[in-house]
Amino acid sequence: MSTPKFRIAICGGGVGGLTLAVALSRYPDIVVDVYEAAQSFYEVGAGFGIWPRAFKVLRKLGPDFEQQLLQRCGYECTEEYVPAIKHRKSDQAVGIQLFDLMTKGNQMRFHRADFHGVLLSHLPPSCTTHNAKRLKSYTQPFNDHSRSSPITLTFKDGSTATCDVLIGADGIKSTVRHYMMRELAEGMDPDEKQSVLSCINPVWSGVTAYRTLIPAEKLRVRCPDHHVFGGGITQYLGKDAFFLAYPISLGQYINIAGFTLQSDLVGTTYEADARIPRRSFEGKANSEWVGELTAEQFVEPFKDFEEDAKLLLECVERGTLWAVHTVKTLPSTNFGRVALLGDAAHAMLPFQGAGAGQSIEDAYLLATVLGHKATTLDTVPRALAIYDKLRRPFTSDVALRSRLNGQLCAFQTDVPLHELGNTITKNWEWAWLTELDDALEEAVKLVEDSSINIS
Ligand SMILES: Cc1cc2nc3c(=O)[nH]c(=O)nc-3n(C[C@H](O)[C@H](O)[C@H](O)COP(=O)(O)OP(=O)(O)OC[C@H]3O[C@@H](n4cnc5c(N)ncnc54)[C@H](O)[C@@H]3O)c2cc1C
Repeated sequence: MSTPKFRIAICGGGVGGLTLAVALSRYPDIVVDVYEAAQSFYEVGAGFGIWPRAFKVLRKLGPDFEQQLLQRCGYECTEEYVPAIKHRKSDQAVGIQLFDLMTKGNQMRFHRADFHGVLLSHLPPSCTTHNAKRLKSYTQPFNDHSRSSPITLTFKDGSTATCDVLIGADGIKSTVRHYMMRELAEGMDPDEKQSVLSCINPVWSGVTAYRTLIPAEKLRVRCPDHHVFGGGITQYLGKDAFFLAYPISLGQYINIAGFTLQSDLVGTTYEADARIPRRSFEGKANSEWVGELTAEQFVEPFKDFEEDAKLLLECVERGTLWAVHTVKTLPSTNFGRVALLGDAAHAMLPFQGAGAGQSIEDAYLLATVLGHKATTLDTVPRALAIYDKLRRPFTSDVALRSRLNGQLCAFQTDVPLHELGNTITKNWEWAWLTELDDALEEAVKLVEDSSINIS
């Protein structure tokens, strides 16, 4: 290989970090190192869904990549209008069918480990992965004489590494965000500085998530024609608590994700329930927010739900509880030759199933601006500013919509039941009626014409 144009370090090998590494494989003149805190790349045993907008981005990673994803999820991708999510009012003895959310194209749903496996198998030779490397801090040289001096990374094990460009894909508790906010705040007046530094720590949303997988066979024995086997998602809604269920892994498991929303606790410090043991994830940073649930603890918030919901809950064997935190809207997601993507930049509530999709969009747009032949080491800061300009307003908007969706599903708004379907659909349709392509086109235009002011 000829001399690389620059070396990118991606800190964090989650969905966003690995998608960026795969997307950069189209640019063999860029050398990539992925530093992951955990001993091995893995994902928690849960399902997640990708809406058409983000799935179209994944398709751009090549036919083989798409083919492997399709094999893992076990169903066809369509562009027709389909009933995607059945919404029921379930916090009563006899539930009511409220509406079917119709989407143009279907949501593709995966076991997280399957999805991760496909990403890992597509890492290019120009990418080296390093496990058990938890970033502790970085220093970015910042004066005119050292614009191309490397950024130094220091890891928790005392080792160091260098790179030309650093991408923080290190999730909600991002170390890169911590140091970037400090860099940004440098020299600001005290009020501004305070506001920027307040973005370092995640904020508790008052939302608690209940996650589990149940063996589909167990439900089939009890209720062979349960409508969760229809393939789509069913949301069982109730006042201040709801859950959704759908099959994954070729119908082997049913993924269940439940939520309680305590609006009076938004922004407070999360206090773990002492009766629930903490779950320790090797190498993961957020274990104090995650607890191990017995089956009884799992079903507690939904115990008065309708029969259809109870049939599912009776199959639960255990689960995990997650105190859902979010990241405040950042003043910027780039500084010099450092940028943030995914949850590190905009961890949001999960009520539009969009966080991973947004990290995929971030990754693809970042690869496009960094890989473009007009981008050189000197112009990396402009490329990252273009990324920020095009992605930050969009992801902030998705985060707001996701919050609203949760409130609508937990009956915490004034919207009457008969208008719920229309309101939820309008709030969500960006995920299947819009595409990243406009932003990609705009990004390329801005990279190619340096006379256009991007501030
Ligand atoms: C209940 C629930 C359901 C959800 N469902 C969906 C869904 O259906 N669809 C969807 O699109 N999104 C969903 N999401 C959101 C989605 O899970 C996240 O947005 C997504 O995983 C973010 O990806 P990421 O790569 O930015 O971060 P992460 O997946 O958090 O990855 C960060 C990686 O960085 C590593 N790391 C952390 N710190 C360091 C460090 N200092 N040094 C090195 N490595 C480090 C971590 O070990 C991890 O591997 C859901 C979220 C929740 C809570």
